[in-house]
Amino acid sequence: MRIDRLDLENFRNMESLSVLPCESVNIIYGDNAQGKTNLLEAVWLLSGAKSFRGAKDADLVRFGESHTLIESVFFCGGRQQTSKIRIEGKKSAWLNDIRQDSVTSFAGIFTAVVFSPSHLGLVKDGPAGRRKFLDTSICQITPRYIGMISQYQRILLQRNTLLKDISYAPSLMDTLDIWDEKLSALGGAIIRMRMEYTRRLQKQAADIYNGISMDRESFALSYRPFGLEEIQEGWTQKEISSLLREKTGRNRADDLRSGASGIGPHRDDLEITINGRSVRAFGSQGQQRSSVLALKLAESRCIGDILGERPVILLDDVMSELDQSRREYLLNHLTGSQIFITCCDKSYFSRLEGGRVFRMENGRLEQE
Ligand code: ATP
Ligand code: MG
Repeated sequence: MRIDRLDLENFRNMESLSVLPCESVNIIYGDNAQGKTNLLEAVWLLSGAKSFRGAKDADLVRFGESHTLIESVFFCGGRQQTSKIRIEGKKSAWLNDIRQDSVTSFAGIFTAVVFSPSHLGLVKDGPAGRRKFLDTSICQITPRYIGMISQYQRILLQRNTLLKDISYAPSLMDTLDIWDEKLSALGGAIIRMRMEYTRRLQKQAADIYNGISMDRESFALSYRPFGLEEIQEGWTQKEISSLLREKTGRNRADDLRSGASGIGPHRDDLEITINGRSVRAFGSQGQQRSSVLALKLAESRCIGDILGERPVILLDDVMSELDQSRREYLLNHLTGSQIFITCCDKSYFSRLEGGRVFRMENGRLEQE
């Protein structure tokens, strides 16, 4: 997967911009507030996702203008294709000049992974972000998982509502078994799929982290099903569901007291360790950044292995806090993917061996 050409019109602070990236590393450097992240954001939008900055569509249109246009020529599935997004009040999308119902149809056609400083929450914050990371990745490679997650959310909501209702209508207690059963059946399937994906991710992430740290640190990932510590790697979905059913039953008094379901995949976590210790609790800034990077890059490899084409990698501001050898790894050892890296300091890419360098100034891009 690669972008061969990108044309922007009135996108954020860029009035009109054209870029011809190379198929390996593309560096975009410049002072603060010049438009580097804006450019990555435009590339990211071509994957059909929402802005990684959480921006509304209208925020993407250059101040004082009525519309913005993002056009690309990209290579995917053995041929060159084109995509176009136009925002003028509403958002319209075209793929190979054919009007689409929505940009979501770009998903799975043009794929990308993005790392921005806001993603550091993946290691620094609570487990919800890590569950979301796993779920989003699994959705990209197994589309039916999207439905499983939303159905689980519905079951969970209904069970929690019932737990609260029972306090003033005890006769409803009889119906709780049905919801325990549904929650355990689907919950077991979700845990099984997350464990399987974590196993794949762990292999790739450990390999990448070894490269980043020059084999000096050992990185590991493990899926932690909350309250279900007995689960072993080779367990089937049925075995997991039956343990979840049993534990949910045993936890019923607590659930009734709190009005919430205490056990299930909505409580699980992905544990990330370096040299056997939690990165969240003990990792340095550089280690935390390297860990998120390893996770994101591993995600790109896992998606690439399954879809047969590696996503484009967007790295926003990753260079600060990384030492020279870690930066060198990013610049020269991520072969096989098209990469866009933004940074402020020119000295950060003095060791770049190939690739293309662009300077961003006030929304204008110049190739060096
Ligand atoms: P840093 O190094 O600080 O991360 P950057 O080069 O990544 O900087 P961007 O985040 O890309 O900078 O944003 C650059 C500028 O874009 C900001 O000054 C911001 O005011 C401007 N900007 C954002 N949205 C719009 C918009 N809709 N119209 C015009 N300008 C905008
Ligand atoms: Mg930026």
